[in-house]
Amino acid sequence: MPGCLCGCAPELGRRGFFAAAVAAAAFPARGFSAEPAPAADPVLIDDIVTANHILYDQGVVDGFGHISARHDKDPSRYLLSRSMAPALVTEADVMEFDLDSNAIDPRGRTPYLERFIHGEIYKLRPDVMAIVHSHSPAVLPFADTGVPLLPMNHIAGFLGAGPPVFEIRTVAGDASDMLVRNNDIGKALAKTLGPHPVALMRGHGSVAAAQSVKHVVFRAVYTEVNARTEGEALKIGKPTFLNEKEAAAAAKTNDGLVGRPWELWKQRVMSK
Ligand SMILES: [Zn+2]
Repeated sequence: MPGCLCGCAPELGRRGFFAAAVAAAAFPARGFSAEPAPAADPVLIDDIVTANHILYDQGVVDGFGHISARHDKDPSRYLLSRSMAPALVTEADVMEFDLDSNAIDPRGRTPYLERFIHGEIYKLRPDVMAIVHSHSPAVLPFADTGVPLLPMNHIAGFLGAGPPVFEIRTVAGDASDMLVRNNDIGKALAKTLGPHPVALMRGHGSVAAAQSVKHVVFRAVYTEVNARTEGEALKIGKPTFLNEKEAAAAAKTNDGLVGRPWELWKQRVMSK
């Protein structure tokens, strides 16, 4: 089977995804430990802080939403801010977690209720190095109506044949508070995401995954932009979306260009 033609993890494809998932299960699970991994690269921590500020500035997150990165020295750990508004995150707020989403060295800091999104996706997707969860407003109509979110232009080619939609009722029943508040729900979401770069969450928001902080910020921003544009297009007619081959080719090109908007967005938040 050739690689998936949508914007999925390009090196995986469906068969590769399941093989990778098996490999991910073999990651050394440390369980709870008070022992931090070797210190993460300060550049990575700085990128996480910057990404928090960019995602707020670009209207992807507000008081809610979060971004994580896999620890660069230990793939069985990830880095995520304590529970707070993303625009206010500093280096001291970035915490370390194992893949069961236990805090390694909390030092009194309260973790996000929905950190399980991150841990379970990192478990299932060894290719994923960064994750954004948001409730960005233009995406919600597509999460809630069944109208597919499809690439309006080349910049959103990573959307491929459209993100899958996670239905929390399949794992948490029909009376949950909609939050991914434990590993079981996180695991179900990760399975829905599968090899895709983005999944929508009915009644909630979306999640984006990628090979770096810069790539995942790009995807989170342009998922929101594409949703806004598609919503406008649907009001005036029937859009012709990129087909899967166009989307895959565009996604491949754009993966080499994510540094350009990152530098612009970074300079913008740093000048404020
Ligand atoms: Zn949420």
